[in-house]
Amino acid sequence: MMDDAALVLFSGGQDSATCLAWALDRFAHVETLGFDYGQRHRVELDVRDAFRATLPGARLGPDHLLRLDALGAISETALTREAAIAMGAEGLPNTFVPGRNIVFLTFAAALAYRRGLKHIVAGMCETDYSGYPDCRDDTIKALQVALNLGMERRFVLHTPLMWLTKGDTWRLAETLGGAALVRAVVEHTHTCYLGDRTHRHPWGYGCGTCPACDLRAKGWQDYVAERL
Ligand code: ZN
Repeated sequence: MMDDAALVLFSGGQDSATCLAWALDRFAHVETLGFDYGQRHRVELDVRDAFRATLPGARLGPDHLLRLDALGAISETALTREAAIAMGAEGLPNTFVPGRNIVFLTFAAALAYRRGLKHIVAGMCETDYSGYPDCRDDTIKALQVALNLGMERRFVLHTPLMWLTKGDTWRLAETLGGAALVRAVVEHTHTCYLGDRTHRHPWGYGCGTCPACDLRAKGWQDYVAERL
């Protein structure tokens, strides 16, 4: 088990890209993990290589892509089916894949076990979490305990964005990598639920109207406003 090595859950979105930069700033060796679970739009997966290519390479290890078809098969959500994004009866948006982050972190730990990586870094955030219960800090902490017991390891789960606003996440990127990293996040990460890569905004590509674009745009406005 390498004490100074990390596995980053890297979807290709803004949050996980910032987490990747955060991990490269702290750990001597960093590997990345993405999941293909039949997302309706594969844009996020497609931008992962482009973003990784902008990072200094000395500490950046291999990328892993795991197929989790079963997750898509059991999900009735707007991300995996051709359905409009809306709020469901339980107050959760229908983009919610039940337990998705629990599944992701469990597979991440299994891979980290095999790769000898002690630290697992993920972009869950309770501040703008859209009500997703598996993004909550308590869920992550409980899962760390369960994974360590169940795998007889001492993994440390890091969620550097947990208490940050979306504006703070842009500011963190600037702190970590200056204007170059902010530009890389704008150009080579993807957040839009509709998979739109044709409309370019100051904050990056997207339809500009879906809930994910809305959050990203508001965060950018908050970030820019504070810099003026
Ligand atoms: Zn959008």
